[in-house]
Amino acid sequence: MKFKSINFTCKNCGAPLRFSPISNSLSCEFCATNESIEQSSQEIKEYSFKEALNFLEKHHEQEINKEITCNKCAATFTISPYSISTNCPYCGTPAITEFRKEIEAKSLLPFQIPQKKAQELFKKWIGSLWFAPSKLKKILTGEYKLKGYYLPHWTYDSETHTNYRGERGDVYYVNVERNVIVNGRQERQVVREARIQWTPVVGAVDNFFDDITVGASKTISHTILDTLEPWYTDVLVPFNKKYISGFDSEEYTIGLDNGFEFAKLKMDKVIRQTIKHKIGGDQQRISRMETKYSNTTYKNVLFPIWTAEFKWNNKMYNYAINGQTGKVTGERPYSWVKIITLILTIMLIVGGFVYLDAHPNTLNHLST
Ligand SMILES: [Zn+2]
Ligand SMILES: [Zn+2]
Repeated sequence: MKFKSINFTCKNCGAPLRFSPISNSLSCEFCATNESIEQSSQEIKEYSFKEALNFLEKHHEQEINKEITCNKCAATFTISPYSISTNCPYCGTPAITEFRKEIEAKSLLPFQIPQKKAQELFKKWIGSLWFAPSKLKKILTGEYKLKGYYLPHWTYDSETHTNYRGERGDVYYVNVERNVIVNGRQERQVVREARIQWTPVVGAVDNFFDDITVGASKTISHTILDTLEPWYTDVLVPFNKKYISGFDSEEYTIGLDNGFEFAKLKMDKVIRQTIKHKIGGDQQRISRMETKYSNTTYKNVLFPIWTAEFKWNNKMYNYAINGQTGKVTGERPYSWVKIITLILTIMLIVGGFVYLDAHPNTLNHLST
């Protein structure tokens, strides 16, 4: 199906404009003219989770590939149903199209880390990796192109009330008789030993969560998206197409309700900590937890991520950089040669000490 696409052009030379994290404005790569993005005073709103679920039940957009025509070279190309911006595969001109999903992203975090800086951060990261194959380090520290994405995320606020059941463990000491070896001889001695007394407990805790973020894209794995956190959502800006110009961006492919299941797992970890703190004592066991979520709200937002993938020994590896903070994360291959060499070295050193221990004269002999 055909879709309209737009792009922004330089008033000075007519070349395409892209968002530049350096100037936080649209920038022309030919004549270096910057065009500032009008600051919106529109507030970043939270939306009712319940109302949205009711709405989603009745509305369902069909997923269709989008056919767009480049405004510069007139080439026609197809993008996936969830893509909202990309660059023309023929001439590289930004092409921005419309949202299609039931819920639109209303705000975003603009890129703050420029591509060059992201590249440097990545080089540093790969250089700091232990046991990475040297050949890989060489390949990746070369001029490796990173791709900039605005990936959809859900943020959730929720008030939780959790009833729990568990046990509180208190440490106490007892004196017991034990057989011990003293100067090579067995002896009976009284020693102090720790024991734990478990007492059953029941109770309830309340928590409030603000902006639990969950990746809503399948382009990068959840594991990678989660390790890119934290995102500082207090600097979200109202959505404006100018921010995504030159970058690939997507609509959500993980729904609002599915996203909330991931959010629950994240909240669960915090709730457990709150319960353990409330139980007190030296150790805590939680056997049952029942959580009610109320006044849940959400936002659909776009977060900036630099990403690339590389093939190593026929396997694909992904890595990503948080475009707001510069935090690097990724999957990585290990060099077994390096690991085995290290293990052998340790064994030789330990073996040497064992040998010296058994032959104490050897050291004297060596040092004289
Ligand atoms: Zn220009
Ligand atoms: Zn083109």
